Amino acid sequence: MFRTIRDIQFKGKRALVRVDFNVPLDKATGAITDDTRIRGAVPTLKHILDQGGRLIIMSHLGKAKGTPDPKFSLKPVHQRLQELLGRNVTFAPDCIGDEVAKLAKGLKDGEVLLLENLRFHAGEEKNDPTFAKALASLGDIYVSDAFGTAHRAHASTAGIADTLPAYAGFLMEKEITYLNKVTQNPERPMVAIMGGAKVSDKILVIENLLGKVDSLLIGGGMAFTFLKAMGHQIGKSLCEADRLDVAKKILEQAKATGKNLVLPVDVVTAPEIKAGVATKTVDITAIPADELGLDVGPKTVAKFTAELQKAKTVLWNGPMGVFETKPFDAATRKIAECLAGLKAVTVVGGGDSVAAIEQMGAADKVSHVSTGGGACLEFLEGKTLPGIEIFSRDIKNMVGGA
Ligand code: ADP
Ligand code: MG
Repeated sequence: MFRTIRDIQFKGKRALVRVDFNVPLDKATGAITDDTRIRGAVPTLKHILDQGGRLIIMSHLGKAKGTPDPKFSLKPVHQRLQELLGRNVTFAPDCIGDEVAKLAKGLKDGEVLLLENLRFHAGEEKNDPTFAKALASLGDIYVSDAFGTAHRAHASTAGIADTLPAYAGFLMEKEITYLNKVTQNPERPMVAIMGGAKVSDKILVIENLLGKVDSLLIGGGMAFTFLKAMGHQIGKSLCEADRLDVAKKILEQAKATGKNLVLPVDVVTAPEIKAGVATKTVDITAIPADELGLDVGPKTVAKFTAELQKAKTVLWNGPMGVFETKPFDAATRKIAECLAGLKAVTVVGGGDSVAAIEQMGAADKVSHVSTGGGACLEFLEGKTLPGIEIFSRDIKNMVGGA
């Protein structure tokens, strides 16, 4: 069980809300090039305002290094936020200090204060208790909708919850709910499909998921380390020689525990990664010595699809091939289409996997697309995330505790 903003009334209360307004800015003009993250937080912000809450909004932006830097001011976000909320928002010159405290204290019901970039202070990323307390002193209740930074123990994502009772916003709630659905008692059969570049990036995810899935399908670059570990010749395909033992261990573990581990049976190869290059589709027993495997083949897609169609729960992390370069996007595209058509809980996570499913126009046809690359992977590794654990803490003895 974890607390969400549904569990509390905000009327008359100062809600200190951590959002992820780390939006991309145009290098030349400083204008916001994609406001998805700001729009994403609006339901949570409106919910609090509609109840008569007083909003204090905080975020980081860009690579500010613990000191004020006008390049990374939240000023452009301020304007866009006013438009999206349809009301006046006061923009504080900093995120802590006397002037900010005065602005926060002066808020009336339904009013909004946006704080300047949290990372203008070194205490933010250091999770400095004094800085965390200075932030906490501005509000009565702490709300977080910033899943993308939940794997980091920063002052505004973790330290602040030592003082204020923490509640998950709607975005955060959806992330936790769906990631829990695939990792805790998933409806079976549960199938995980993994790909991407490296085994080394995903070992902990594979090991954690292997204990939870009925079937694990492995494609992408990482499949070649497994194929090599099984004794196949993989030509010039991506291979992590120092991970062959881990791959062997995972293969043995799957066998011993009766898990259905499915690897490619055919691949698409080429002499180099280049759009429009001449390709071959070959069985894994016939990978040309001077070529690289850059996508899984049609027989593999058919095998994977057959497993996915039986599933009640699906987790997808990692593209099946070098999807950025045509025609090596073919299998990833087919898998995205397959997921989009399933009547199952379907969750997609990982920076490139999310980019792939968005590019393929299937993002709104799956149950959940996780927005936090690193946070999502750590969740799938089975780790306790500092910015999530706070929602289940005992808050009885806290001032704003309900
Ligand atoms: P995610 O961000 O979804 O977790 P990864 O970062 O692990 O995914 O992997 C994505 C990258 O893997 C992509 O850039 C893609 O080009 C690469 N990739 C996929 N298949 C192969 C392959 N066969 N050979 C080399 N790189 C691959
Ligand atoms: Mg990636």
